[in-house]
Amino acid sequence: MKYIGAHVSAAGGVENAPLNAKAIGAKAFALFTKNQRQWVAKPLTEKNIEAFSANLAAVGISADQVLPHDSYLINLGHPEKDGLDKSRNAFLDEIQRCEQLGLTLLNFHPGATLNKISEDESLDRVAESINIALDQSSNVVAVIENTAGQGSTLGYRFEHLAHIIDKVEDKKRVGVCLDTCHTFAAGYDLRTSENCNATFGEFDRVVGFQYLRAMHLNDCKPDLGSRVDRHHSLGQGKIGLEAFRYIMNDERFNNIPMVLETIDSDIWAEEIELLYSFENLS
Ligand SMILES: [Zn+2]
Ligand SMILES: [Zn+2]
Repeated sequence: MKYIGAHVSAAGGVENAPLNAKAIGAKAFALFTKNQRQWVAKPLTEKNIEAFSANLAAVGISADQVLPHDSYLINLGHPEKDGLDKSRNAFLDEIQRCEQLGLTLLNFHPGATLNKISEDESLDRVAESINIALDQSSNVVAVIENTAGQGSTLGYRFEHLAHIIDKVEDKKRVGVCLDTCHTFAAGYDLRTSENCNATFGEFDRVVGFQYLRAMHLNDCKPDLGSRVDRHHSLGQGKIGLEAFRYIMNDERFNNIPMVLETIDSDIWAEEIELLYSFENLS
């Protein structure tokens, strides 16, 4: 079964996110559990936590289909001690917020070298950061997102994801989220079903579908291999609809949260409906 949703707003409190998901017909959703552009946030209150669980149950979405995304400030591969320590502390706080909410996944971007250390050194730091966080928590799976490779960011090659996973000690608690826009911008073509066969085949060889824990379903404004991260609504970007038809008809994408981060939230309900209309058509 496919679980489609979107990255919904948690304005006014995390407990509003399940209601926002329900309003667009989502069976899964992503959210920020704190302001994604600030280092520090107020702790979640008992009231937030209870209302979140109650609303999640009321809308009938299981905790496995909720994909929290961490703060954009965190860089787990940071080249400098201060930045690395700050990132590791903030990442642990994100994990603990997930645990408080009864959630089991945390989606994050691997990090960036800031052009001060090599990619391999930075990837090693990311893996070490994950090991440290997993040691201090018990349930949450660290879900590494592939990136477009803008600037000095890591994660634009499947090999980067494999490098990190290889050095994470608890393989059961590490996984991957593939963002279709990032995949395409990083140079992996998805425009035809043959392209999808090749790209997802390579992902399976290099990383392995057993590590796929989530998807971000986005079309892409810039061209293939542009290394520029600009999302677009489904069918309006350079990827086109074929990739999404392919994904909706491929069992390897069953039973994981697949969320839209497309640019027009007014049409998320239509995009979700469109995706479900693709099922069993091929
Ligand atoms: Zn992301
Ligand atoms: Zn994404």
